[in-house]
Amino acid sequence: MEESFSQSTPEQLQKELLFVVRGLKSQVLNSSSLAVGLEWKKSMPAEIETKVISSNNEEKLKKVCQEMANCQLCQLSKTRRNIVFGDGNPNAQIVFVGEAPGADEDQQGLPFVGRAGQLLTKIIEAMGIKRKDVYICNILKCRPPENRNPLPDEISFCEPFLKKQLQAISPKVICALGTFAAQTLLKTDVTISLLRGRFHTYNGIKLMPTYHPAYLLRNPSAKKPVWEDVQMIMREIQA
Ligand code: URA
Repeated sequence: MEESFSQSTPEQLQKELLFVVRGLKSQVLNSSSLAVGLEWKKSMPAEIETKVISSNNEEKLKKVCQEMANCQLCQLSKTRRNIVFGDGNPNAQIVFVGEAPGADEDQQGLPFVGRAGQLLTKIIEAMGIKRKDVYICNILKCRPPENRNPLPDEISFCEPFLKKQLQAISPKVICALGTFAAQTLLKTDVTISLLRGRFHTYNGIKLMPTYHPAYLLRNPSAKKPVWEDVQMIMREIQA
């Protein structure tokens, strides 16, 4: 280089210098845009990760909900007004599972919004949490006519959706409300009064059976054992 400089005329030297300067300029520009690009790339995964983590359960739940949209697997599809899929926080630590929608739930498309639902909300708030922070759903997603008990074939058609729903949320504790929820999830015929009061396991998730809020409306003395059960849930959540 030195040699060529020394042999160049002032015009040639000027051209060569201009050439070198242009080359350096383009290198600097390229490397700075590369740096900006790298910085962008570096920050992307973290941002995306946070969003993915928080929306992952929601996305999974949406998929399950879409899967059963317009479900016609059992006869309840003929009499329902709305499918009551579930409601609440997709990242909830606690999921409450009831039996089946009643008239109010069928009308609004939301679980536990009638009298039993109001009592469930009171129980949740007495636990020191807000209803919007838990997730609430049912074994059956459609209302049985006249609120009759769920039939075995209705349960077996609907249960796979519940299973996927619970897998999507993957809560720390499931609270099974009443006989149907507890017996269906635990695959047992044992009565609710014998099942409640201790944790069982459902697909690796702790499950506490307790009395259904509708039962509490008829039998207020059962509020005490329910309070004991939900306190055990709170201790488990805080552990
Ligand atoms: N009873 C239930 O089991 N579920 C509801 O959503 C309402 C009442």
